[in-house]
This record gives sequence, C-alpha cells and structure tokens, in this order.
Amino acid sequence: MNDKKINKPSSTGRFGKFGGKFVPETLMSSLEEIEIAYEKYSKDKSFLEELSSLQNDFIGRPTPLYFAKNLSKNLNQKIWIKREDLAHTGAHKINNAIGQALLAKRLGKKRIIAETGAGQHGVATATACAMLNLECIVYMGEEDIKRQAPNIYRMEMVGAKVVPVISGSKTLKDAVNEAIRDWVTNVESSYYIIGSAVGPHPYPYIVREFQSIIGIESRQQILEKTGKLPDYVLACVGGGSNAIGIFSGFIDDENVSLIGVEASGEGVETEKHAATLTKGTPGILHGSLSYVLQDDFGQIQEAHSISAGLDYPGVGPEHSNLKDIERAQYYSATDKKALEGFKMMSIEEGIIPALEPAHALGFLIDWAKEIPKEKTILFLLSGRGDKDLETVSKKMATL
Ligand SMILES: *Cc1c(COP(=O)(O)O)cnc(C)c1O
Repeated sequence: MNDKKINKPSSTGRFGKFGGKFVPETLMSSLEEIEIAYEKYSKDKSFLEELSSLQNDFIGRPTPLYFAKNLSKNLNQKIWIKREDLAHTGAHKINNAIGQALLAKRLGKKRIIAETGAGQHGVATATACAMLNLECIVYMGEEDIKRQAPNIYRMEMVGAKVVPVISGSKTLKDAVNEAIRDWVTNVESSYYIIGSAVGPHPYPYIVREFQSIIGIESRQQILEKTGKLPDYVLACVGGGSNAIGIFSGFIDDENVSLIGVEASGEGVETEKHAATLTKGTPGILHGSLSYVLQDDFGQIQEAHSISAGLDYPGVGPEHSNLKDIERAQYYSATDKKALEGFKMMSIEEGIIPALEPAHALGFLIDWAKEIPKEKTILFLLSGRGDKDLETVSKKMATL
C-alpha cells in the first residue's frame, strides 16, 4: 500500500476516515485557535528552544535506551528498553503536558484544565503548571481517586485543585466529560490539556507531535547501539499516546513491525476488558471518530482493566487508521498476564514497571516464543510502577 506513510492528518483532521471534530459549536473556534497556534509555534525558534531546554533540563531527556540482558536471555530475544520511567514524574505524559502548557502560555491562557485516569497525566500537568505559573484544575473519577491515592497528594502538593467526578462509572471517560464541560463554559480563559492522542482535531496530532520525541530519540539510540533498526517496536495502548510517540519514529521504515498491546482485563470473551481495537467498532467518543466500545445504540460501554491508565473505551484515531491500513498490529493482554509481566521485569531487571506497559511485557512472554529467535525488540517502558505497588500486592495475595 502506498498510503502507509502518515505525517499530517488531512485538513479536516482525519487519519484515513478516523478523527474529525465532533464537538459543540462553541468549541469550534477554540480548536481552530489551537490549531493555528500550534502551526505557528511548531516552527517558531524561541518556542522550540524553550521546549527543548525544558525537555533536557526539567524532564531529563534524552531518556536512556537500555539493553535488558536478563530478559533477553530468558526470552531468547534481544530486548531494548526505552526508559520513559526515568522521565520527571515517572512516565511519558510529561512530554505532552509541558508542550501543551507552553502552548497555552503563548496563547495567553492562565487557567489549565485536565482530566486524569491513573493520575499520571494529572501529575504531569500539575507539575508543568507549577513550573510555568499556571492555575491547574484536574478532573478525576472517584473510582480512580480510590485506586491512585498517592497521585492525588502529588497533584495537590504542587498546587493543583483535584475535582472528584461522581457521574457514570466514575473513571476516566467521565472525567473527560467533566473536563470538556468546564472548557465549554470557560473557553475564553482556559486551555484544556488532553492527556492522550485522543479527542477532536487537532489534539491527536499535537499530542503525537509532543510525544514523537520518544520515537526520534529511540531511533537514533538503537542505530547508535546496534547499527541497525529494530525488527519490532512494542508499546502498550490506552488512548495511544506513548505508542504513537514511538511508532512515529519508525512509521516510514517498512521493515520495522509496530505492535500495540491493549488491556483485555478479565478476557476479551468477557464484558470486562478495554480492548478497543480488538473488540470495538467505529463510533464517536470525545469529539472524534475512532474504534470504541459501544452497544447497538452507540452508547459507550464501560471498560475494565487492572490499570487505570488503560481503562478507557476509546483509542486515538491514528491507531484506528494504522490498524485498518495494517501498518501496525494490535494485540491484548489480560490483567493476569500484566501481573506476570510486572513481576518478570521487576525480578529479572530490577526495574518495577507501571501496570500499563506491564501488559505489553505480559504479551511478550508468550509472543517471544512464537516469533523467530534473536530478533531485536524495542520495548517502550512508558512509566514506573511505584503508583501500582499497592494494587499489585493486593492482587498477588489473592492469586
Ligand atoms: C497513561 C499511561 C498510559 C496509557 O496512555 P497512552 O496515551 O496510551 O500512552 C501508559 N503508560 C503509562 C505509564 C501511563 O501513565
């Protein structure tokens, strides 16, 4: 196929047929304002210099690329880990939060709204706002607040206001709804920093661009260290921002296979999963057309995953397109597999992964046996697991 090379979405914000701007009319001009601002500042020398200096000195980039010798030996593959767990605040989300907060500042917006699931995007946004002197309001489902208490303290400690959301399933999708509601009401003063490569155009595109630093660095690092490109690039997929960030560095390299792993909770054959690309159908959620988990009426279904960061019934439109044009392959891993992956990396490598990328590790345990031996696999460790230790300990005790 010759349309595999994907750079920009179309002028109407589409990746193939996916994407678009399915939003209330009151938001159209704000989305346009953001789009125009991004086009301008993404070519602006002083913006790019400020961004780059914050990436280096505040986030700690470039993050290392590490050869996992024990895992590699055990699984008979060559496994390289891109260490986003070592980015400031412990996950890749900060790359996007800083980029968008800088953009908001250039737009003269002083009030930042964000939603959060696991709390990682909330922490990243609150952190960026503290550093850039912006007011920060974070919407978070009550259910997630219970699962992620340490992150609430972190957000409040750096000065953000955390607003509990008690509608619907009290998780991420409800938090997004509340954040959008706030934004519609306060659109003049406020900028909404979305946490993944989802939402109406231009968000999926902007988020990908701010996360593409992962792909740019990884490509350079793996070439330096191995002299060639990887055979596979592996990442977990919630909304899809960490995956699209690393995929974007290799999308034009046709010999590099791109593999995304979703959360299948208690199993794709049950109703308790978050495997949107595996089991979903095209529909509209949070302003864009993409694969979603929905019923016959188009009502969004509840997702389930042991990890709050993957517990979302939608996915970014660019992934939907990559699936349809077969440039990327998507698989899933259950809660149980994720725990296996979590334990394996902790014990073998002395690195405690977040539960989200632990899904991709759990998948890798079985999949590594199916593919030819000694392949080079670039694995994106999107975050560290401190936030998940309580959940994991409790779960392991019951197994
Ligand atoms: C939020 C999060 C994810 C899932 O979000 P994506 O947008 O799919 O990247 C994955 N890993 C970690 C560590 C997260 O915090």
